[in-house]
Amino acid sequence: LAGCSEDEALKRRLIQVFRSSELDRWVGNLVSRGESWEKELHYAIPPKEDLKDTVTPRERFLQVHGSVFRAGMKDAAEEKSDGRVLLVLHDITELKRLEQIRKDFVANVSHELKTPITSLKGYVETLLDGALDDRPKAEEFLRIIASQTERINAIVTDLLSLSRLEQAGSTLEKEPLPGRSLLESALGVCRRKAEEKRITFDLVCPEELFVPANTLLIEQALVNLIDNAVKYSNAGSVVRLTAKNEGKTVTFQVEDSGCGIPEKDLPRLFERFFRVDRARSRELGGTGLGLAIVKHIALAHGGSVGVSSVEGKGAVFTLRIPSAGLSGSSPAGGSVPSEL
Ligand code: ADP
Repeated sequence: LAGCSEDEALKRRLIQVFRSSELDRWVGNLVSRGESWEKELHYAIPPKEDLKDTVTPRERFLQVHGSVFRAGMKDAAEEKSDGRVLLVLHDITELKRLEQIRKDFVANVSHELKTPITSLKGYVETLLDGALDDRPKAEEFLRIIASQTERINAIVTDLLSLSRLEQAGSTLEKEPLPGRSLLESALGVCRRKAEEKRITFDLVCPEELFVPANTLLIEQALVNLIDNAVKYSNAGSVVRLTAKNEGKTVTFQVEDSGCGIPEKDLPRLFERFFRVDRARSRELGGTGLGLAIVKHIALAHGGSVGVSSVEGKGAVFTLRIPSAGLSGSSPAGGSVPSEL
């Protein structure tokens, strides 16, 4: 943290070690007044250390406890005369980061819910103010109220899924599941939307491929990916679904030739409520939570999810689930392509 070794630090003054005038002032007060304190220090690691350790972020939050050093002194008069101080530093950077994520999340949830609630309030008030007597208008408003209620329901349902997933952790119930029927039933859920856009599916999965997973969750992850592929693809296009064994991993891929994702947005794509185009996502009934759910399902299985995309050309989402220890899983190859 200090940017120098213990030996070097011992030869220097406090300000030369930590280069924080704030800390220096606090310690000065401690020596002159003798009162213990506990403070939070926003601290920038000296550049020398930063060069050595590129993984460590430069900024740190330290919780510092300062008190007069009293070791081995029984006499109160002696305590004062010593002049040495004890500083205990806790690195709370990670805690601060988590606190910020929690704050952002609460702000995002409130914001996401506020929009449909404001709209509900507005339409209900208009109905009460007399629009109720105008039958066609009243029907139109009630239809909007129904769709906004559905939106709130979708957000809350997704939030509950996420919170359940976070709690599930290692207690997840898994069983060997045939990859092909998983993909087929996920397809079934998305078929109606796909048909409306004349989108067809190309499914490639070996009959003998099995994946150790939780049925409902893995199906939900696949549905979310396929639903997105349908939502963000052009009418009449083909969505390609593949599953294969790769060493000790089963890899599912959902590939579309739709609008794709700008490169700058790829790193944030799996964050809760992140959307490339907010208005478009809302219009398509999205909550901005679908990919965060996929990520958590992958993590709950000890797997991962990734994306590659060229804007304007399409996107490929890859879900990897470990298959180690699963008897009956077949090596790669032997795929049975089919048009659905
Ligand atoms: P949403 O409910 O908005 O679809 P998701 O979490 O499922 O939320 O996806 C987050 C964002 O990622 C979407 O709003 C969209 O901008 C982008 N996205 C997801 N899948 C695709 C895809 N197949 N093609 C292009 N963009 C996608």
